[in-house]
Amino acid sequence: MPEKRDYYEILGVQKGASADEVKTAYRRLALKYHPDRNPTDKKAAEEKFKDLSEAYAVLSDTQKRAQYDQFGHSGIDSRYTSEDIFRGADFSSVFEDMGMGGVDLEDLLGGIFGGGIFGGGRRSSGGRRRGSDLQFDMEINFNESASGAAKDFVIPRHEVCPSCRGEGTAPGSSRTTCSKCGGAGQVQSSQGFMIYSRACDKCGGEGSTISKPCPKCRGGGRVVVDRKITVKIPAGIENGMRLRVAGEGEVGQRGGQRGDLYVLIYVRPHEIFERHGSDVLCEVPITMVDAALGTEVEVPTLDGKVRMKVPSGTQSGKIFRLRDKGIKDIHTGVRGDEHVRVIVETPTVTSDAQKRILQEFTRASGESTFPNSASFIRKLKSFFR
Ligand SMILES: [Zn+2]
Ligand SMILES: [Zn+2]
Repeated sequence: MPEKRDYYEILGVQKGASADEVKTAYRRLALKYHPDRNPTDKKAAEEKFKDLSEAYAVLSDTQKRAQYDQFGHSGIDSRYTSEDIFRGADFSSVFEDMGMGGVDLEDLLGGIFGGGIFGGGRRSSGGRRRGSDLQFDMEINFNESASGAAKDFVIPRHEVCPSCRGEGTAPGSSRTTCSKCGGAGQVQSSQGFMIYSRACDKCGGEGSTISKPCPKCRGGGRVVVDRKITVKIPAGIENGMRLRVAGEGEVGQRGGQRGDLYVLIYVRPHEIFERHGSDVLCEVPITMVDAALGTEVEVPTLDGKVRMKVPSGTQSGKIFRLRDKGIKDIHTGVRGDEHVRVIVETPTVTSDAQKRILQEFTRASGESTFPNSASFIRKLKSFFR
């Protein structure tokens, strides 16, 4: 597979480019490589246009851009499907700004990608419209991220109005077919070589109008309701990951499909454990005497406390590995290890008795007691000779 090109390079902008610079660059190049403008080499232009649009979709989205800046293409590809990459990207204003209001980018890009990219607001005949996607930011604790959890939360979202069943009409009345678009919901206009279809302004793309709106939803056909959602958080989830809950977004209009719900996960840091991929690190202080003589210490793990042997002569900073005591990899299910870093604590000596004992210990010690210090002193001496 050929290496994917850098998004910044594709758009010809600097890494620190502002949102406006990204948009301007995309607009310029998108017009240049618009497939309709390159009829002799349509296939190549389409490829180019697709790459440009993908780069723009990522770099114009703060969250996706941060992800890309940190992890490159793999950060995007591992987290988003090709549909998700384009989801939520603002294409229409890019072209509207040029006085080309209503360019049907959905048709344009949708045709190239095989359709289905533009979830929110996608229209079809009869005013049917897919519901928008929703996002919920959820904070979980470290243990929940390690072992997984089922979490409940409440989000306000649109549901079909129970009073008019989504029709938007008052009891006893019905919708009338729009006189301007004849029920299509769209009107077409041409500008030079491009034909644009845009939403009919008379009926707002609905294809029909209401003479007596439903009093409960004021004609919208939808009402906001607090909805309780339960989401299963898989073990091993990491800070910043997004879960997709299919079909739990906003309700569609006129029988349109529901949007999806995205749950963005924030993991609170743990007091003891630090996560490194699927391994966890924890620091355990031991006394100088225990480190010298050897001991057994109690060590916290995600499964509870375990006893760990520390051999005599252990130096500060030494890392011991507890196999399979880490976190499950969310994709493979393979559990990582726990790394225990032993920190040797130097004693705070206060009494004369303690001092005497340590001085006596020093007198009884030789180079073999402190080999590192002894060798350092030797090196120092030869260096300054
Ligand atoms: Zn209603
Ligand atoms: Zn109309």
